[in-house]
Amino acid sequence: MTVTLAAESTTPANISALLSAPPRLLIDGEMVEPLSGRSFDVLNPATGKVVGQAAAGDAADADRAVQAAVRAFAWGAPWRRMSALDRGRIMGRLARLLEQHADELAEIEMIDGGWLRDAAKNIEIDLSIKHLDYFSGWPSKIEGNTIPTAIPNTMVRTEREPVGVVAQIVPWNYPLLMAMWKVAPALAAGCTIVLKPAENTPLVALRLGQLALEAGLPPGVLNILTGFGAEAGEALVDHPLVDKVAFTGSTRIGTRIAGRVAGQVKRLTLELGGKSPNIVFADSPIDVAAQGAANAIFFNAGQACSAGSRLYIERKNFDDVIARLSDIASTMKVGPGNDPTSTVGPLISTSQLDRVRGYVDAAQEHGATVVTGGSAVVEGVDPHGYFIRPTVLVDVDDSMAAVREEIFGPVVVAQPFDSLEEIAVRANDTPYGLAAGIWTNDITRANRLASMIRAGSVYINMYGATDAAVPFGGFKQSGYGRDMGHANLESYLETKSIWTGLTPEKPAPGAEANV
Ligand code: NAD
Repeated sequence: MTVTLAAESTTPANISALLSAPPRLLIDGEMVEPLSGRSFDVLNPATGKVVGQAAAGDAADADRAVQAAVRAFAWGAPWRRMSALDRGRIMGRLARLLEQHADELAEIEMIDGGWLRDAAKNIEIDLSIKHLDYFSGWPSKIEGNTIPTAIPNTMVRTEREPVGVVAQIVPWNYPLLMAMWKVAPALAAGCTIVLKPAENTPLVALRLGQLALEAGLPPGVLNILTGFGAEAGEALVDHPLVDKVAFTGSTRIGTRIAGRVAGQVKRLTLELGGKSPNIVFADSPIDVAAQGAANAIFFNAGQACSAGSRLYIERKNFDDVIARLSDIASTMKVGPGNDPTSTVGPLISTSQLDRVRGYVDAAQEHGATVVTGGSAVVEGVDPHGYFIRPTVLVDVDDSMAAVREEIFGPVVVAQPFDSLEEIAVRANDTPYGLAAGIWTNDITRANRLASMIRAGSVYINMYGATDAAVPFGGFKQSGYGRDMGHANLESYLETKSIWTGLTPEKPAPGAEANV
């Protein structure tokens, strides 16, 4: 059966094939049906229409995928025998294939994830390629040390080894990029992988897996398990042959995973939610600050973990910055990703739309004022799509849910402040610590405040940039460990100390010091 696609889609053949029944998983280099035969709908967020089916992998499929990854990691398997340079070459080939398929991948992100087509290609896919390019240079630079010890006639060296089989569980907001943040360093380290994409966006990971095989990745090194978190995700987390779990998603689920992993002594890295402050001092030009504030919250319809969702403006400029920000927000064009004039796409799902509307409505009930936007139905778009207008809320206070909790939509709460000391305390008054923005021409003040803020990334006169070489991650409940940069590579490596006695005619010294 071939599934009918949304009429607006240009639907390259590869995407049609992905969406055709029977839906499949990618395990051990083969597209295979889930053992249960179950599947779930893939929905286009711009229309609410079913565009196809994806395989609902469960615990039995998770086991199949993990066993494939274990075999691919076994001593003597092609991936383990391969030179580091060749590992990097395959990654480079995959990057070039992603470039060649950028239009197709952007189309998938649009149909499946609600992305604006151009933003998907020029930002999400482009960053994914850069990420792979950066990490493709690493395999041949992973080195150990020789260590001078206090024990005579011995030599000690360290080797850096891949941590083993990694389960990688990712969210839907940047489907390819979030996968790549995890897959690229794991491949560079020499691990094997079971990747579980979010149930809202199962497609692009499957395509990534297929292209990786085309690039020469041995079967079983990158397995793709689509399915639900409570089934496929938990089965991976609990699987005894998984050595490490790398998770990006909500703090709620991350906390649950941390609890399960604690009893198993698995390695774990967590990239979780945020409620990031964006702080505008009065010496920052109003247009610059307002545009910066808009970009920080409205890009990808606010579905970004580091979104600048708490806006603090120095009191004397508060009204002017809000007026300018509201102008920008109200002239943004809400629409589907295949309309090149759209600047804000849909949210991912109807439940996410309800959730975001709920925060806006509750804030209003508690006295907040909607300066622009709001929860009303958006005119001029498909009424079945999950659209909401960019929204600016003022007259809020720090006790409101809209101020304290991650909304994950195009909604910013704005408040005035009076001093650096005050704003440092309020910026940190959150369980999260992912990112922060500071807008001022006073670089001393900016850096003083940057030191006071407890967040993994602080942006001065810019917001939200990421680069494969720069560590990214959270303080506090925004997670632990870092994605990107060599700090991330470290989390996929173990250190082994190898001791050699240099006096073969008698036992090497040191045994008496057994620990
Ligand atoms: P989510 O936590 O609901 O789901 C994330 C992934 O976990 C999905 O693949 C899901 O299927 C899986 N999952 C769900 N329940 C599970 C379980 N019990 N066991 C194992 N896996 C399970 O998050 P979401 O709604 O998909 O994504 C949005 C969240 O992701 C936001 O909180 C956002 O801040 C966060 N995020 C963080 C970063 C970062 O780098 N810090 C980046 C992007 C998104």
